[in-house]
Amino acid sequence: MTKEKLFATKLCLHYKNYRRNFPWRKTKNPFYILISEIMLQKTDARKVSEVFPHFIAKYSSPHALSIARLSILRKDIFLLGIHDRANRLKKISKILIAKFNGHVPKEKDKLLTLKGVGDYITNAVLCFAFNKDVPIVDANVIRVFERFFSLKSKKLRPRTDKLIWQFAGDLVPKGNGKEYNRAILDFAALICTAINPSCLRCHLSKKCDYFATSLIISSTKASGSKKLSIT
Ligand code: SF4
Repeated sequence: MTKEKLFATKLCLHYKNYRRNFPWRKTKNPFYILISEIMLQKTDARKVSEVFPHFIAKYSSPHALSIARLSILRKDIFLLGIHDRANRLKKISKILIAKFNGHVPKEKDKLLTLKGVGDYITNAVLCFAFNKDVPIVDANVIRVFERFFSLKSKKLRPRTDKLIWQFAGDLVPKGNGKEYNRAILDFAALICTAINPSCLRCHLSKKCDYFATSLIISSTKASGSKKLSIT
């Protein structure tokens, strides 16, 4: 089995051990999923968990959202910060009505025409709402790639690096993109964290470049003592 195949297989295999339960993972409604992804941008998922259920109950369709007063919308999502987001949500709902008959489109080029919707949100909607086997790439996913595969982007903003997206796309298992993408998001959030990754309980450690390097460094530092630890 290639290292890439092992990575995806093990992530999916062990996902049940660390999966997170979020309210937006219980719906297949593309509009709700689009709203959740806009809310999640640069925002703590726990805060979104508090706001999202009430929000979609109140604004259950693009029409309901499009006629909402901006001042009320701002109050409804105040907890999330980034206050331009109320405006964006309202504009997106209007575009959905004007251009897409009140539906979230299934096509990437059409999703990208929505205000503030880039590659990440587009693919998240395609994957989580429409079951497409497409990759999602953010700073956390890139961190996992950097550690496990020693992958380095030459771009200042790796998230915009087409090669990273290509690499990520090749990893997505056919027919299992939704579970794989959720698995890598949760793995990055809970196991392969930015600070103090939990390497000693990580099922990928045997093949992880970062882990192997850490062992060598620790072993060198501890010369004399037999104890190995993760730096
Ligand atoms: S061994 Fe550590 S660095 Fe490597 S993938 Fe697992 S948690 Fe991340």
